[in-house]
Amino acid sequence: MPRPSRLFCEIDLERDGKQTGFVRLPHSVHRSAYGWLPIPIACVRNGAGPRVLLMSGNHGDEYEGQVALMKLLRALAPGDVRGRIVFLTAANFPAAMAGMRTSPIDEGNLNRSFPGDPDGSVTQQIAYWIEHAMLPQCDYVLDIHSGGSSLMYVPSTLTRRHTDPAKLATAIDLMRTFGAPCGYLTDAPNGEDRTLTAAAIRQGVTHLSTELAGGGQVTPTALAIAEAGVRRYLHRIGALAGPAPAAAAPTRLLQVRGSSYYVYAPDAGIFEPLVELGAEVQAGDPAGLIHFTDTPWREPSLARFERGGFVLCKRVPGRSERGDCLFHLGAAFEP
Ligand code: CA
Repeated sequence: MPRPSRLFCEIDLERDGKQTGFVRLPHSVHRSAYGWLPIPIACVRNGAGPRVLLMSGNHGDEYEGQVALMKLLRALAPGDVRGRIVFLTAANFPAAMAGMRTSPIDEGNLNRSFPGDPDGSVTQQIAYWIEHAMLPQCDYVLDIHSGGSSLMYVPSTLTRRHTDPAKLATAIDLMRTFGAPCGYLTDAPNGEDRTLTAAAIRQGVTHLSTELAGGGQVTPTALAIAEAGVRRYLHRIGALAGPAPAAAAPTRLLQVRGSSYYVYAPDAGIFEPLVELGAEVQAGDPAGLIHFTDTPWREPSLARFERGGFVLCKRVPGRSERGDCLFHLGAAFEP
């Protein structure tokens, strides 16, 4: 680690057995001069084997993964495990406690904060600890996201569209193993990539993420997909002992490439979706209307799909501002 992290992990990740505790983030504020923020962490370790990080609460308002991982953590005994599984169920702890995408302390979006800063804001310090203290001790990271408060997804897995054929094959195998209805591959963004995906790639850790439903709620179907998917994933990489869980349903492989896959609100107003999640659309199809609250006699603005594809993600709240993402598409994966 180039500079030391200020965060201190109470539990010894090299010890066999099941341990729970906190990663302490020093936080000196008016009500607590020498206090720390308690980021919950747990470790289930049993000898040699893969070193896995299971993460949720990267965005605090994405609940499916948090619930799935809490249930798995309570269920697992050391004898169920080969190697080590670390649970970071509320990665951006202040955001998770507030039920918000971003931290109420510094407005930090953890998944836009990597590689982080050991002397930065609370969220930057968490990002730095994850990338520089945690990931170098891991072979795999599964980062469970959903659409959060503003988006709803067809339950999906995703990761980077690796140019290395072996890495791409592993990614696709893990997506098929997890067994969400869809799995999609994304390109690296233009400019600096501040996501956990980039952090994992920098640290040589095999990455998989998800987008499981959302809407600021817990959808039982998506939760069931998460729970079964995590167990299949862990078994596939050799981290769970015992017989293989039931095979997954087929995963539809998709790609998401560039801005033409997205539809944004052209104006501020009330969003009327014109298609449902899961629809197949053609280029030019109407996507949604924006109705003008302040000038109800005006014709609404119409947003269209720039390209054809499968409606993977849809905005949830009615009220929308210009620039809000209304939909995004996936298209059949083309190697
Ligand atoms: Ca997210």
